Amino acid sequence: MDGGEVLPWEIRDGRGGQDRDLPEDPAMLVDLRRCIGCHACSIACKTEHAVPLGTFRMRVRWLPRPDRPTIAFVPLFDGSLCDFGVNRRSYGMQPACVDACPTHALTFGDADDPEAEVARLTRDHDAKPLNAPEANLKDGVLYIGAEEWQHKAIHKGCELDRRDEDIIYEQR
Ligand code: SF4
Repeated sequence: MDGGEVLPWEIRDGRGGQDRDLPEDPAMLVDLRRCIGCHACSIACKTEHAVPLGTFRMRVRWLPRPDRPTIAFVPLFDGSLCDFGVNRRSYGMQPACVDACPTHALTFGDADDPEAEVARLTRDHDAKPLNAPEANLKDGVLYIGAEEWQHKAIHKGCELDRRDEDIIYEQR
């Protein structure tokens, strides 16, 4: 790599990346208190990786709350497809979803490094993985602010769910 601008298709093709200090124990922290459900992360991911329609490496689920007539937003990372943006990281960049998020709801780093922000936030906020073994979620994703009902509501993980399509929040 010559230090010039790196374009998405170059990253996608794996051209020009260099070996760097990649995290020993990669972790993604999702702060649900910050997520506004804008889908910028999933669109960035799909664009960067040329993900076909109907398939998601990561996806933001909109879940109707059981306690009041509003929506909760839960970004999910697929256990088979998401690689935490390994090609971008070989360029010294953050995963596309992290860079795209306007509210800093996503933090990526080395969970083994006590100085890393991802480790500090995990400690300070007691972040935990979602408890949904049937949802094929990626290991190493921790959540701040996950509520008990949300664990049960994401059983389909990143797959499209017809029930989601009924939710058009802005029109209600
Ligand atoms: S980009 Fe950030 S705020 Fe928007 S849906 Fe994704 S995690 Fe939430």
